[in-house]
Amino acid sequence: MTHGRTVALAALISVPFLSLAGGCDSGADDGAGAGAASGCVTGSCQPWQLCQEGQCVPVQGRCDDGADCVLPEVCSAEHWCTPPPGPCAGVDCSGNGTCAELGGQVQCVCDTGYEGSDCDVCADGYVDFGDGSCVPDPCESFPCEEHRRCDLDLQSRATTCVCDDGYTGDDCDECTDGYFPSGRDCVSEVLFALPLANPAAAMIDLPVIGFDNNPAAGSSDLDCESYLGQPFPFCYDQHNGSDFMLKGGFPTMDAGSTEVRAAAPGEVIEAHDGEFDRCRVDILTQGIVCPGYDYVTPPNFVKLLHGDGKQTWYWHLKRSSVLVTVGQYVDCGDPLALVGSSGLSSAPHLHFVVVTADGDAVDPFAGPSSQPGSHWVEQDGPDGLPGAVCQ
Ligand SMILES: [Zn+2]
Repeated sequence: MTHGRTVALAALISVPFLSLAGGCDSGADDGAGAGAASGCVTGSCQPWQLCQEGQCVPVQGRCDDGADCVLPEVCSAEHWCTPPPGPCAGVDCSGNGTCAELGGQVQCVCDTGYEGSDCDVCADGYVDFGDGSCVPDPCESFPCEEHRRCDLDLQSRATTCVCDDGYTGDDCDECTDGYFPSGRDCVSEVLFALPLANPAAAMIDLPVIGFDNNPAAGSSDLDCESYLGQPFPFCYDQHNGSDFMLKGGFPTMDAGSTEVRAAAPGEVIEAHDGEFDRCRVDILTQGIVCPGYDYVTPPNFVKLLHGDGKQTWYWHLKRSSVLVTVGQYVDCGDPLALVGSSGLSSAPHLHFVVVTADGDAVDPFAGPSSQPGSHWVEQDGPDGLPGAVCQ
């Protein structure tokens, strides 16, 4: 058996895949000198070469009469040296990538602008105008004003700004049906932020003493069902809100307390101040007493109305701390007052209530015992509390 190792390289020029040849560093184009090139990447060597450890090296081939050969040699006038079928045989990457064996897995390394296991879809920021190629999306560099997004017409390739979902009008500043104004935004439902500051978890004691999801009156105050189905102290009987207890109690309140903040943008519909703010639980009777009074004095409180008709109520505020007046609009996070212990309050805390547009107090927390949807923007935020993030 003879192997013609002298046939001119020119004979290979007719091999179709030669047209795929990438740029190989100088010195490698003769195809014979192993290791002549350096700095290659997969796909950048000549078709009869492989990029191995940064160098283009010839491919060990096989003559079709069974003998070994090294590309780009040919075996004889009748027999060609062809590469053995590698793991990438039959993988075409849609013409938009290069097959490679990476970490023991055969996969397509897609060209810029393409993604998917076969490199047959456009990556984010790229668009197909119908000819199957992915080009940079003109909308990526087409700025639109607030509450608008860029819209691309694939036929004309024209870009325009259109209103975001939920917004309408010439200035995209009105809400469509099913959306409600909330501050400067339109939302399908108003969601709430933690209505308190809690720097470094220093201000609020856990657990949150929550809403009672069992509406029946229990046999004791402790007979209740939290959103997770837990009993006291995660709730108490017929509690219609969530209690955020001030860490350290009265001494913390006297040292400046902590801010109660608007849980969402809204209008102040009620505000009351001026009441005694040191009511507490009586150790002996377990009842609420307001020292100096022979009755439970009224609470200081604020109520907000939100764009979707829901209300949030903020109870037991510190005397002379209420900062807002009826008719005022507040933004999410605006301070309303300080935590206190006015009214039917066992210790300084915020009693926070979410009321639906139908007038029902509901548990803001989603759970198996409450409802599937949370009224918080971020129910499981830092420090075991809802997040202080606004919608
Ligand atoms: Zn409460």
